[in-house]
Amino acid sequence: MVPLLITMDLETARDHNIEEQNAILKTINSDFCKLNLPLTIFLTSDSLDRFNEGIQKLNTPTNEFGIHGFDHSINENYSLLGEEEIRKNIEHVFNNIRNRLNRIPETFRGPYMSTSSLTQKVLIEKISDLIFQYVRREWIL
Ligand SMILES: [Zn+2]
Repeated sequence: MVPLLITMDLETARDHNIEEQNAILKTINSDFCKLNLPLTIFLTSDSLDRFNEGIQKLNTPTNEFGIHGFDHSINENYSLLGEEEIRKNIEHVFNNIRNRLNRIPETFRGPYMSTSSLTQKVLIEKISDLIFQYVRREWIL
């Protein structure tokens, strides 16, 4: 079998019909289930709030979820943000995914593919914190 990695960025297109975006999500879910293909979905926090029903259907053990920022606004460029804003955004999306999907995000892709050494530092600290919680049996989903 040839390994296949398909990823999708999910953010709200405010200039398009929201219901059509919901319908597209359902079609993607249906098609990927029929093809038995795993999907990695990078979510913005606001898309998770807006498309919760469709995203819940994508919440299967074969699919992965990643952080794609708070709301993908023009100002959410991780190569320009300061450490505190990066930490606040990542923490917010992480908690939203954990609370709504009862799992933790597996990966990160910044809006506009943006990242920085500060972003990588914050992500490494987050992973270290999770490992520490797991080792101390404080892991709470
Ligand atoms: Zn994007």
